[in-house]
Amino acid sequence: MHKRIDDVKLYIDGQFTDAESGAKFENINPFTNEVNNSVAEGREEDMNKAVAAAKKAFEEGPWGKLKVAERMIYINRIADLIDEEIEEIAYLESLDTGLPISQTRKMTARAAENFRFYARMVQTKLHGESYPVDDEFINYTVYKPLGPVGLITPWNAPFMLETWKVAPALATGNTVVLKPAELSPLTANKLAQVIDKADLPAGVFNIVHGFGETAGAALVAHQDVKAISFTGETTTGSIIIKNSADTLKKTSMELGGKSPLIVFDDADLDRALDAAVWGIFSFNGERCTANSRVFLHKNIKDEFVEKLKKRVMNIKIGDPMDSKTQLGPLIEKEHFNKVKSYIELAKEEGCEVIQGVVPEEVKAGNFVPPTLLLNAKNDMRVCQEEIFGPVMAVIEFETEEEVVEAANNVRYGLAGYVWTNDIKRGHRVAQAVEAGMLWVNAQNVRDLRIPFGGTKDSGIGREGGHYAIFEFYTEPKVIHVSIADHHIPQFGK
Ligand code: NAD
Repeated sequence: MHKRIDDVKLYIDGQFTDAESGAKFENINPFTNEVNNSVAEGREEDMNKAVAAAKKAFEEGPWGKLKVAERMIYINRIADLIDEEIEEIAYLESLDTGLPISQTRKMTARAAENFRFYARMVQTKLHGESYPVDDEFINYTVYKPLGPVGLITPWNAPFMLETWKVAPALATGNTVVLKPAELSPLTANKLAQVIDKADLPAGVFNIVHGFGETAGAALVAHQDVKAISFTGETTTGSIIIKNSADTLKKTSMELGGKSPLIVFDDADLDRALDAAVWGIFSFNGERCTANSRVFLHKNIKDEFVEKLKKRVMNIKIGDPMDSKTQLGPLIEKEHFNKVKSYIELAKEEGCEVIQGVVPEEVKAGNFVPPTLLLNAKNDMRVCQEEIFGPVMAVIEFETEEEVVEAANNVRYGLAGYVWTNDIKRGHRVAQAVEAGMLWVNAQNVRDLRIPFGGTKDSGIGREGGHYAIFEFYTEPKVIHVSIADHHIPQFGK
């Protein structure tokens, strides 16, 4: 039994505070389905306070006027404080989401690196260009922060995704209002505590917990919020774009996926197997870049499927707090029911369903065992819709042309994986698959410098590396300076 932990408040203008209405909601533990704690439920009036604090901190506070090196001292301090608390943060993340602790520890370390990375990026790379125009002008650009920005995040990798947005937003000099997912408030609250301890000026960073349709929508609609960076479902992304139109906000959309992993018959099958299994069953299958559709060449399909079946039976299902656990419970009952209903649908659509076994002693949790949907066809609903659980559809193919067409025959375009030892084919297929990110003979290993994001219904825009700091969290401003007496028309002289 896990202990009940401290209730969570909003963090506005440097203070931990209750919601104006006094409303709270319960935060449920996915492993026990008992209440972890209660969370202050922010609404429009709280969002207005948070945005006002962020605006004041941007316009009047010291944040925007600090020397870059001074601002980076704060950013690096946040990273150091996260490192000091990795165990606690990983514990809270696993408690909140059901993600196995061995995985949340790594995600937390990565979160600290997000801050260090953006501190380095901003110090070394965030500079403009100059455009000498003959001997008459020199034009140059400077990159300016936007102002108060709104960050809206999902529950599947909360701390990692929050820091992935907060770090570049703050490092470039913006002020922030974060609206974390209502299903995973614990580590967002920890981030507020860390930032409070790092002594950032009041109002630079604010958190309003609450529901999407109320707190989230109020952030999106707010006149003073200059941009929204959103990660979540495709349907939510499209609502947010619509709702941000009235105030002409800049938006960045990191949305859903249904990514293909293609194994040709000349591939290193053992490594492809490791990657396929990890890619769908890590993060409990609640992973935007998961290889939920696996295409196997017909010559190796039977052998590969036999090995997949063995792996599925051996994956260690259990308490997220046990460091040996590989697969934990899904975030909440409703999502658990959704994933289970897709498995039923797969049977109706004609798949053979192979599943691991959930141990009796953890039945109180929202466990869906690792699941294979064999004999799947790409046009089935289970191959077209994002299930967002530990469910892998296995589809046979014969030719390169056929597999590329099937891989692309889906609304999403986030990630893709190609396994082949034919170097030409590897590049060719990677270039032909419609997705923002492709890996050849590799699992999803990601350098922080690369552009992250999807195409088609998986997103608009890229974050990561210099894309976040140049293309999203700042705006170029050009300054034209005359260095000679160029011609100026003399109307009315
Ligand atoms: P979701 O869209 O339900 O919620 C995400 C966030 O949006 C939450 O904070 C929610 O409160 C908020 N929200 C909901 N309605 C809103 C509204 N009308 N206005 C403003 N905010 C609103 O997504 P989820 O279920 O939390 O996350 C899972 C989804 O996220 C999956 O589709 C997954 O693929 C996607 N995801 C994508 C990436 C990526 O980088 N592409 C990464 C992780 C997760």
